[in-house]
Amino acid sequence: ASLVAARGPRLLSGLEVLVSAGPTYEDIDPVRFIGNRSSGRMGFAVAAAAAAQGANVTLVAGPVALSTPAGVERIDVRSAIEMRDAIVARADRQDIFIAAAAVGDYRPQTTVAGKLKKNGKPLKLELIENPDILAEVAALARRPFLVGFVAETEALEHNALRKLKEKRVDLVAANQVGPDRGFERTDNALLLLWADGREQLALSNKAVLARQLVACIAQRYRATRVDKGRAS
Ligand code: C5P
Repeated sequence: ASLVAARGPRLLSGLEVLVSAGPTYEDIDPVRFIGNRSSGRMGFAVAAAAAAQGANVTLVAGPVALSTPAGVERIDVRSAIEMRDAIVARADRQDIFIAAAAVGDYRPQTTVAGKLKKNGKPLKLELIENPDILAEVAALARRPFLVGFVAETEALEHNALRKLKEKRVDLVAANQVGPDRGFERTDNALLLLWADGREQLALSNKAVLARQLVACIAQRYRATRVDKGRAS
């Protein structure tokens, strides 16, 4: 007890926090899929940091090779549709939803039952758009405080500001991706943007960044609750 007291009150005590992390895999046939280069590390670090701050954390994870952070309830999914179903089923009980997953934008229209064989001709894949999970949660009547991630190779701030408005999120965490930044790495830099403020988190280890991000989320979450209290 003295240890906890020495550290002060925890920032997310008793709050329900839902985190999505990792890539999604969209199956072409039983052995092939379309995926992306997300390692899931940022989302897992955020889940760990939120749990360390006293939140009840549910982590919906795409296919990743990471162990579950202490005290976190983990739900494994594979495709964007599975991830959407797992998140939407829980979203209206959450105080905060942090969308750190790199959800695949498209999936094959049909998944072939048997392994596709070569036949000397070009293979045509019909791809259809996946649901936007963040947008579906944003449309809920009882919507949680929303945190979106943005990964861009250029015009980071411009795109992040656009996402903040378009996606109706409360906070955007933007990171530069490219040949030697962002994905598949243990370090990262994040630009945090909200309606009337910003904070630049310098390049560092994802665990350190996650703690700083969680501190900012807790502060913004409380600020919006205070505003709502005043409005009503
Ligand atoms: O539109 P874009 O993919 O850049 O948006 C990124 C943010 O939206 C991330 O927080 C990501 O987790 C979320 N997202 C989602 N469902 C999608 C696509 C993105 O939740 N289908």
